[in-house]
Amino acid sequence: MNKNIPCTKILLAKNEAGSAGYCESCDVVELGIGAISIRIVATDLYYIAQLLKVADTNMAHYHLAKDCEQHQSVQSTEVVH
Ligand SMILES: [Zn+2]
Repeated sequence: MNKNIPCTKILLAKNEAGSAGYCESCDVVELGIGAISIRIVATDLYYIAQLLKVADTNMAHYHLAKDCEQHQSVQSTEVVH
C-alpha cells in the first residue's frame, strides 16, 4: 500500500450481484457482494474469476444431471406400471 497516493477506485464491473472496483495505488480489487466487501490482490482476480466460472459450469451440469435423473426415474416408473 502506497500512502503517498490517494485511493482512486476504478469501477471494473457491476451487475445485480454486486460490483468490482480496482484501486491502482493499492493494487487491490474490491468485490462488493451485498453487505460484504472483499479486498483481494489484483493478481488473484483471474483465479477467482476462473473459480466462479468453473463453479457456474458445474452447477449447470449438476442441474442437468439432476433433471435427467428425474426424467429417467419417471420414465422407468411408467415402464414398470
Ligand atoms: Zn487504495
